[in-house]
Amino acid sequence: MKPFTYAAASSLEDVVGALDEGCRPLAGGTDLLGLMKTGIRGPERLVSLKSIEALEGVERREDGWRIGALTTLSELASPARGGEQRELEVLSRAAAESASPQLRNAATIGGNLLQWPRCWYFRNWLTRCWLKGGDRCLAAGGENRYHAILGAARCHMVHPSDPAVALAALDARVELRGVHGVRTLKIDAFFGEPKPLRENGTVVERDEVITAVVVPRPSRESRGVYVKLAERKVWDFALVSAAVQIEMTEGAVTDAAIVLGGVAAKPWHAFEAEGRLVGEALTGTAMEAAASAATAGAVSLSQNGYKIELAEGAVREALRRLQRTFGSESTGVG
Ligand SMILES: Cc1cc2nc3c(=O)[nH]c(=O)nc-3n(C[C@H](O)[C@H](O)[C@H](O)COP(=O)(O)OP(=O)(O)OC[C@H]3O[C@@H](n4cnc5c(N)ncnc54)[C@H](O)[C@@H]3O)c2cc1C
Repeated sequence: MKPFTYAAASSLEDVVGALDEGCRPLAGGTDLLGLMKTGIRGPERLVSLKSIEALEGVERREDGWRIGALTTLSELASPARGGEQRELEVLSRAAAESASPQLRNAATIGGNLLQWPRCWYFRNWLTRCWLKGGDRCLAAGGENRYHAILGAARCHMVHPSDPAVALAALDARVELRGVHGVRTLKIDAFFGEPKPLRENGTVVERDEVITAVVVPRPSRESRGVYVKLAERKVWDFALVSAAVQIEMTEGAVTDAAIVLGGVAAKPWHAFEAEGRLVGEALTGTAMEAAASAATAGAVSLSQNGYKIELAEGAVREALRRLQRTFGSESTGVG
């Protein structure tokens, strides 16, 4: 491991100043320290965020939720009080199904959104893939069973975060603070296209720190579910996942968000599938149409064609669970 200096910041201003001078932020350390040990990342200076109170806590406001960047996945996953449980159900489930209990106790939501790709060509210190400045994506013609089927061009990595998929379905924003002030970005805008040697797969600037994630409050008629399909039940990343948030009024879907994980370099909004549901009851026909449309435009590599069927299955399962949650009203019967 390369030598580095470590400082604990005492205020948010300190953090932003330190980042502007080239320090890198450290939160739970569950991703960054592993990458430093294997030599994939080698920051010379780290600034710890853990003592900054302004980054802590989950706050329920009139118009939604403000989730501090240091909120751990365990906190997000724990059975919540009152309306929080229903309103943030999709996020709680995604957090609960992430990693392992020990990791969830340390991992923060800020670090989770900025975790690095799990692509084995990226994580192997011997390889020089496109993302690390090489001339091509080694997965394209190599071992690619865990790679992208949607939206990939020069790089076929998938974003590993479960909570990011749920946050996209909740239309959340990421709040960032840097030397030029505060800005908020929708999850879609936050995750940019993969770029070689970029600090991370997002549009975060070097001097910026994530301060919070802001979730607009879903309507009383809205419900969400998260379905994760992985090789193991714990300590494993999604092969494919689906976060689905649906609002139903008088037996018809009035709003739908269907977001896929494990299929693209960012949470993948299945707009075509959403369009198949709005205005419909949750009947078998409507759900089937939405599930088949979820992978519109998918292109598989030599080993990951199974993900198309899996993604459609995840959406189908999510819709079935929602059908049960909404009860007989959702099918237009009774
Ligand atoms: C074995 C294993 C299994 C896992 N399984 C899953 C899984 O199933 N689902 C899932 O979603 N994740 C999974 N993870 C990933 C885990 O959730 C992340 O490692 C964790 O969320 C990162 O958070 P952290 O606080 O430890 O971040 P750190 O490791 O401290 O930081 C990660 C990155 O984010 C930056 N950063 C951190 N906080 C901020 C901030 N507030 N502002 C700006 N930059 C910041 C750091 O500089 C670094 O580049 C797994 C990890 C492991 C090791």
